[in-house]
Amino acid sequence: MKQFKTESKRILDLMINSIYTNKEIFLREIVSNASDAIDKLKFISLTDTKIGSDFKINIAIDKNARTLTIEDNGIGMTDKDLEKNLGTIAESGTLAFKKENAGKSDNELIGQFGVGFYSAFMVADKIEVYTKAYGADKAYKWASAGAEGYTIEETDKEGLGTKIVLYLKADVEDYKYSDYLEEYKISSLIKEYSDYIRYPIQMLTTRSKRKEGSPDDKPEYEQVSELETLNSMVPIWKKPKSEVTEDNLKEFYKNEFHDYQDPLKSVYAKIEGTVTYDTLLFVPQRAPYDYYSKDYKKGVKLYCNGVMIMEKCEQLIPDYFGFIKGIVDSSDLSLNISREILQQDRQVKAIANSLEKKISSELKKMMEDDRENYEKLFAEFGLSIKFGVYAGFGMNKDKLKDFLMFYSSKKEKLVTLAEYVKEMPEGQSEIYYACGESYEKISALPQIEKAKDKGYEILFFKDGVDEFVAKILIDYEGKKFKSVSEADFSLDTEEEKKELDQKREEFKDLLYAVKDALGDKVKEVRLTSKLKTYPVCLTAGGDVSIEMEKVFNSMPNAAGNVKAEKILEISATHKVLDKLKNAVENKDLLKKYAIVLYEQARLLEGLSIDDVTEFVTAMSDII
Ligand code: ADP
Repeated sequence: MKQFKTESKRILDLMINSIYTNKEIFLREIVSNASDAIDKLKFISLTDTKIGSDFKINIAIDKNARTLTIEDNGIGMTDKDLEKNLGTIAESGTLAFKKENAGKSDNELIGQFGVGFYSAFMVADKIEVYTKAYGADKAYKWASAGAEGYTIEETDKEGLGTKIVLYLKADVEDYKYSDYLEEYKISSLIKEYSDYIRYPIQMLTTRSKRKEGSPDDKPEYEQVSELETLNSMVPIWKKPKSEVTEDNLKEFYKNEFHDYQDPLKSVYAKIEGTVTYDTLLFVPQRAPYDYYSKDYKKGVKLYCNGVMIMEKCEQLIPDYFGFIKGIVDSSDLSLNISREILQQDRQVKAIANSLEKKISSELKKMMEDDRENYEKLFAEFGLSIKFGVYAGFGMNKDKLKDFLMFYSSKKEKLVTLAEYVKEMPEGQSEIYYACGESYEKISALPQIEKAKDKGYEILFFKDGVDEFVAKILIDYEGKKFKSVSEADFSLDTEEEKKELDQKREEFKDLLYAVKDALGDKVKEVRLTSKLKTYPVCLTAGGDVSIEMEKVFNSMPNAAGNVKAEKILEISATHKVLDKLKNAVENKDLLKKYAIVLYEQARLLEGLSIDDVTEFVTAMSDII
C-alpha cells in the first residue's frame, strides 16, 4: 500500500467527508478527464495511423454491484503516470493549498481547487482505475479506498485508454448515492454539464419497446437495451458561423436559458486577440422578475474547451450589462478554475474586458440599425445602464453615456443625448430637462408650456435616478444639464430679461409681502417669465432639486429632512398679480392668497399639500 502525498491526503479527506452540496460535479470532472485523454491520443493519431478514429466515452451502470463505470479510449496512463497523477494533486493546486488553506470551509476549498479526479471520492468509497497507455505493453490497475493509500498492480486490459470504476457509497438519510445508478440521472447530468464534449458519451439505455408481431389490439412490450449517445457533441458555437442561422441561435437561447420568448438580439462571435474565445450573447425581451432586486444573479455560462466550468460567471459581465445572457468558451482557461481564483485570474479579466467591448459595440450597432429593438431593450434594461452611469461616482459614465435615451418633448419619443445636442437651436447652450413621475405629469409642469411654445426641446426625466445621472454626467459634449425647475432657468431674450427686471423692481414690495406671509415655507418669492397659463411654479434655489427631495424622502429609512430650497415664482403676466397687488394693504387676505398660490405650486410640482388645514381654510375664506 502506498501513501498519498500529504496535501493530497488532506484534499482526499475533504472529499471523503465532504458536505459539499454539489457532489454531482464528479461526473463532469471524470468525463472531462476522459475527453482530455482522447484529445491527446487523437493528436497522436494524426501521425500514427495504427490508432483508430472511433473515439468515445462509455458509461455503464451496474445496480447489483453498485458501480458506475466511465471508460475512455484515450491516451491511458503508465504505472508511473498513475503514481504521479493519481498519487498527488496537481502541482499548482499544491502550492495554493500550502499558501492559503487556513480557515476555509469545504465549499471554498473544493471551489478553489476544482477537484478533478478526487471529486469521485465524494460519491464513491472505493475507486478502481484500469488503464493502458499509448506505447506501453502492460496495463495497470490503481485502486484506493480513500485516505489510507492506494495500490498499483499489473492487470489485463484490452485496448488503450482508461476505465474508472466507482463503488458508490451506501445511501444515507440526506443523500441518495444510488441516484447515480439511475440511467435518467446520469443522462441528465451529462446533458447538463457535458453536452458539448466533442466525443460521443454513450450508455446502454433501457427502453420499453413493442414486441414485433404482437397484435394491434393487444400490444406486448419488452425491455430493450440500446447504446445511446447522451451528448449532442457539437456546441453551436463551435460550428462555422456560416452554418449557424438566426433561428438556430433563437432555439438555442430558449433551450439553454429557459425562456419562452425569442431574444431581442443574438450575437455569435469568435474572438481572437490577446485572448481567444467563442461567445454567444443574448438580450432577453423581458427583464426577469427579480432583475432589479438583490436576488438577481448576472453572469454568463463559462466553458473551457466545451466543458462547462461555471453556470453563471459574474466576473465576465459588468453590472450595467447584467441583463446579457450567454456563453463564453475559451481554451485559455484552466478547467479547475474556481470562483475565488476567477476573481484574480488574468485570462478571465482579459476576457471580461474584451467581452464588454463586444457587448458595447453590438449595442451601439443595434441602436443605429435596429432602433426599434434597442428602444425595447432600453425600456426593459435602461435603468440598469443608468445605475451604471451613476454607480462608483461615475467611473463608467463615459463608456455608458451614449447608451442613454430620454423622452423628448419635441419629438415625442426617445432620443439620445447626441441627437439632442445635434438639434439644439443656435443660442441654446444647455441641455434642458424636466423631472416628474410620469410623462403626463411632466408635460403638465407649468414651465414646460412656455418652453414648448418657444420651440425648445426638453428631456423628460421620469426615473428617480435620471437627475442623479445628469448631475454625475455634468455635461454632454460640453453642454451642461439644466433643469427647467431651477430658479435661474430662463428662455428669455436680452430684451425680455430687461423687461422682467423692470417688473421685478416695480413689484418689489408686493413680493416681499408675499414672502413675509409664507415665512419659512419658501426662501424667496419672485416674478417669472417662464409661465404661460399657470400663475405660479416652484423652483429650487440650492443644490438639492425638488425632484431629488422627493427621491431622497421616498427611500426606506428616510428621515424626511432633505429639503430643496424652494422659490415661489409668480407669473409676471398672470391676472393673479393684479389681485395680489390690490390685497397688499390687507395683510390677512394677502396671506390667504399667498398660501393658496404656494400650495398650488406644490401640487403642480408633484409635491403634496404642506398644510392641509391652512390651505382649506384659506381657500374657503376666499370663496
Ligand atoms: P487535472 O485534470 O486537473 O489535471 P485530475 O486530478 O482530474 O486533475 O487528474 C490528474 C491527472 O490524471 C490528469 O492531469 C491526467 O494526466 C490524469 N488522468 C486523469 N484521468 C485520466 C484518464 N481518463 N486518462 C488519462 N489520464 C487521466
